[in-house]
Amino acid sequence: MTTAPLDSTKLVIEKTTNPKEVLPKEKLAFGKSFTDHMLEVEWTAQSGWGTPKLSPYHNFSLDPATCVFHYSFELFEGMKAYRDKDGKIRTFRSDKNMERMNGSAARASLPTFDGEEFMKIIDKLLLADERFVPEGYGYSLYLRPTLIGTTPALGVAAPDKALLYVIASPVGPYFAEGFKPVSLEATDYAVRAWPGGVGAFKLGANYVSCIQPQSEAAKRGHSQNLWLFGEEGYITEVGAMNVFFVFQNADGKKELVTPPLDGTILPGVTRDSTLTLAREKLNSNEWIVSERPLTIYEVKERALKGELVEAFGTGTAAVVSPIKNIEHRGEAIEVPVEDGKAGAFTKQISEWIRSIQYGEEDFKNWSRVAK
Ligand SMILES: *Cc1c(COP(=O)(O)O)cnc(C)c1O
Repeated sequence: MTTAPLDSTKLVIEKTTNPKEVLPKEKLAFGKSFTDHMLEVEWTAQSGWGTPKLSPYHNFSLDPATCVFHYSFELFEGMKAYRDKDGKIRTFRSDKNMERMNGSAARASLPTFDGEEFMKIIDKLLLADERFVPEGYGYSLYLRPTLIGTTPALGVAAPDKALLYVIASPVGPYFAEGFKPVSLEATDYAVRAWPGGVGAFKLGANYVSCIQPQSEAAKRGHSQNLWLFGEEGYITEVGAMNVFFVFQNADGKKELVTPPLDGTILPGVTRDSTLTLAREKLNSNEWIVSERPLTIYEVKERALKGELVEAFGTGTAAVVSPIKNIEHRGEAIEVPVEDGKAGAFTKQISEWIRSIQYGEEDFKNWSRVAK
């Protein structure tokens, strides 16, 4: 028996008759207001993917027994659409988000789909809600593709029904007044992920346990927590971002370091873009780019020797987030921050990525125009 693949040509469009007001830019808050429309595609084990629908933003009606409410059959993606100088709407490396979403789906026993077909209907949503894509550097439309299991039964089993949907929220720059470096607290009483676990997948279940350590860090005046793993104190991620350090090595070269994708780290698109751009654009006589394990103790020791140059987190929301200090077991590790805002490489990588996102530079076809 063959079941139907996700087919973008079947898209049914129902436009709103009650258009929302577009909020002024200064009122945009992350993920709080949404566009006029949303996308939905239902799936059943018996028939496969159903008719994709673009319709007015609406509530769901689900049976209280639906498996998503009980066993967290949920995964998501985070990506953004940007308005370029010609007014066209662009997405950044969406093929990577589609690949990652399918990886998460497979791990969560939820159905996979053709990512390019899904992107074609996402493009239609972007065109339908085009007026919600704000203009200007740092402004964008945040897209939240989501997949949930919808089987209305309590048995712990692979869902035989699912819903793939997309909602969109206009957002402003993360750092409205320029970079604002963050202070971190290294968490050593909880772990985010472990070898053989699901930390490398964007499953909703990974986030529920992150809030409490984050709130604890906030109580002590830190804006994020730094996730460590094992007795050795391996550095894994910062909050829900990947993490990078820049060291001045004894041989005169600078080293850009991020932990390797060993299954405990979310494979960020911004992480991959940072590594790719650094390998292509930095002078290899002056720089080494490493994906290697590093511990909090290495960072502490090298900070004391004056060899720690910069540190930053990467993710779609902020692009890069400079780090100014890390507290670990009562000791403070100071990270030098040029001009109190961000280090030179942190600024450079942010500019390289942004100019591709906003279509000012064409790099490896990383930017896709919605049509
Ligand atoms: C989404 C996410 C990231 C960043 O991924 P990007 O693709 O760069 O946005 C990093 N860590 C965690 C835990 C995440 O959920």
